[in-house]
Amino acid sequence: MNLADAPTPKLGVQAASKVYHTASGDLLALDRCSLDVNANEIVSIVGPSGCGKTTLLWSMSGLHRLSSGEIRLDGVKISGPHPDIGIVFQEANLLPWRNLDANIRFPFEIKGEKPDRAWIAHLLARVGLDGFGGKFPRELSGGMQQRAAIVRALALKPSVLLMDEPFGALDSFTREEMNRLVEEIWLDTKTTIVFITHSIEEAIFLSDRVVVLSGRPGRVAKEYRVPFPRPRSLEIMATKEVFDLTNRIKMDIVGERATPKAAERAGAEIVRIRS
Ligand code: ADP
Ligand code: MG
Repeated sequence: MNLADAPTPKLGVQAASKVYHTASGDLLALDRCSLDVNANEIVSIVGPSGCGKTTLLWSMSGLHRLSSGEIRLDGVKISGPHPDIGIVFQEANLLPWRNLDANIRFPFEIKGEKPDRAWIAHLLARVGLDGFGGKFPRELSGGMQQRAAIVRALALKPSVLLMDEPFGALDSFTREEMNRLVEEIWLDTKTTIVFITHSIEEAIFLSDRVVVLSGRPGRVAKEYRVPFPRPRSLEIMATKEVFDLTNRIKMDIVGERATPKAAERAGAEIVRIRS
């Protein structure tokens, strides 16, 4: 295919670099990171802790300014928070003094817009929270709070949903339930999703592609296509193909961490023999 014929990606990250200026000096968190996310795709980003995943996601959302490079939504450069981009964080961040309905309405109040009540009711039912609108966050479990945060983000009908380790704080059963929920929502809405996780299993279950970042500064080290059909049943997830892909991605990340350590050990060994 001619390059000129290639469709514009939904989200295009081009040579994104980010330097944090800290009291102890400059810290390069992202180094010329480039990746495309196509419309209706789910792309997961994995990588060692501290490699710049959150920095990348915040930059995609327009909450962070890049030091160089750019991010485009439908071909247009992002320069600040954008109404087409929704975000879900690791913590639900619900306002404790507002009930669920009022929390979901909150972003609309800030924007001075009328919420689409029928759509919100549909979403609440979809995540199993109908009838809970009058409850306060303290009355809801962690999983329910996170479902509410997903509804709050989707209520605005974003064309891209960014999720930063949204289920990292949940127990593994609730997490699996939430993964199924994201899959169902995606099958329903086909919203483009960028999903950060440290769980390779979660990344493979959800994604069309898994992007592996190198250790800090984050760069795209590898990219894997996940070819399994949806919905991804337990049977599919238990196949050797899934097992092998999981291990390959794990090796990319662990290998990244293990190599300097192994070198250190080898170095220590030499010093010991010499002394
Ligand atoms: P990840 O999400 O992959 O764990 P982050 O994007 O949170 O990584 O952080 C990447 C690097 O940038 C880390 O070394 C982190 O300490 C540093 N960092 C993140 N946010 C800031 C900030 N606001 N100021 C200074 N350093 C930061
Ligand atoms: Mg992070």
